[in-house]
Amino acid sequence: MKRLLKGGTLVDHQGQYDEDLLIERGRIAQRGHNMTITPEMEVIDASGYQVMPGGIDVHTHFNIDVGIGRSCDDFFTGTRAAACGGTTTIVDHMGFGPAGCNLHHQLARYHAYADGQAVIDYSFHGVVQHVDDAILDEMAAMVEQEGISSFKLYLTYQYKLDDTAVLQVLQRLRQIGALTTVHPENDAAIRLRRDAFLRQGNTAPHYHALSRPVACEAEAIARMINLAALADSAPLYIVHLSNGLGLDYIRLAQRNGQPVWAETCPQYLLLDDSRYREPDGLKYILSPPLRRQEEQAALWQGLVDGSISTLATDHCNFSLRQRQALSGGDFSCCPNGLPGVENRLALLYSSGVMAGRISPEQFVMLTSARPAQLFGLWPQKGNLMPGADADLVLFDPTRHVTLRHEEMHDNGDYSPYEGMACHGWPVMTLSRGEIVWRDGAFIGRAGHGRFLRREPFSAPPIDGLF
Ligand SMILES: [Zn+2]
Repeated sequence: MKRLLKGGTLVDHQGQYDEDLLIERGRIAQRGHNMTITPEMEVIDASGYQVMPGGIDVHTHFNIDVGIGRSCDDFFTGTRAAACGGTTTIVDHMGFGPAGCNLHHQLARYHAYADGQAVIDYSFHGVVQHVDDAILDEMAAMVEQEGISSFKLYLTYQYKLDDTAVLQVLQRLRQIGALTTVHPENDAAIRLRRDAFLRQGNTAPHYHALSRPVACEAEAIARMINLAALADSAPLYIVHLSNGLGLDYIRLAQRNGQPVWAETCPQYLLLDDSRYREPDGLKYILSPPLRRQEEQAALWQGLVDGSISTLATDHCNFSLRQRQALSGGDFSCCPNGLPGVENRLALLYSSGVMAGRISPEQFVMLTSARPAQLFGLWPQKGNLMPGADADLVLFDPTRHVTLRHEEMHDNGDYSPYEGMACHGWPVMTLSRGEIVWRDGAFIGRAGHGRFLRREPFSAPPIDGLF
């Protein structure tokens, strides 16, 4: 079956083209002006739409077990929501396994979670819980045999790594062609502040933000950057950047030629810490927390100048009901994370492209091309060149939609973006040539999504203009 997208404007990270696009056997077969229609083609009228590479969300947590509970989106409902928002690939950060488990343990578990469930293509980031010779040895097999070319380590939470372990991981991953990603927060500072609040009986949601101020995150970012430099300039990827001070450290490193990239998320661009004072402030418990409004402007500047390379969601969906039941209103007992995988593209398109902050090409770079390049999916994903997978999203720049959770496709009970107005909307999503979202209806199927064996890391350029 051939599909011809006719009359649209193709947009990739480098330009815009008035061309038709032919799909054959799940891949982009051909592009051209006014291509001839033949009888075996199904024609999709794309006139008035921007046709872009499908979104790649490199930070989700589906079906994650955080000890006190399991998030409410599994690999079916999570990828369904992603597809309905124009995202065609996710790379999920695996959760922690039992203490002492090896890297393959969690990989096997996650394959079982996703196999037959995912609606769109997917991969996983490895997770490093402890470091010893066996773990360091195992890493190469993860990259070469399993296609897992990025790993995450934590500087806070139960399995935080100390400097020795961090240096060993950075060094080893650099040697074997993998990217180190990090959740950077200063664990000691958080613990001291949180314990003081709890002793005083201060358990309301806004103390969550007060317990993890900007400096907690910025200190850990600076430390990681310096440790990466000490590990012979190991490549480093900062997840969920939430503040301008951390970004300043990242820019300094980039200016010095250090291979450091940063990701931010819609919640840090569009929501602020006043949300914690709302009656259902538990809805916004995540780490790092929502920040003061002025941080948003700093992050937008980072997207504009290229010092922030990607936009992901950190989708980790605990329903409000789960949050209330597990925490009893105490921030320190509430599971962390926000839903959002369905709204990433629409939110950035509306508040970025339509608001005139970034170009459509920058939009594609942030949401698809750069994530593909950093995480070993390029050129199969993230672009519109013949040979690439026909993973596409069609945006209607004239559509106005007010976000309502009742119209979303995740398995939770709220959206942090409820009531937000979006200008521009993903009206169709194709995954390897199959239509999975059209005219407001999900028409994909569980099991269509395939596991993506990712290529070893190779460094894309840093875009910062400075
Ligand atoms: Zn996360």
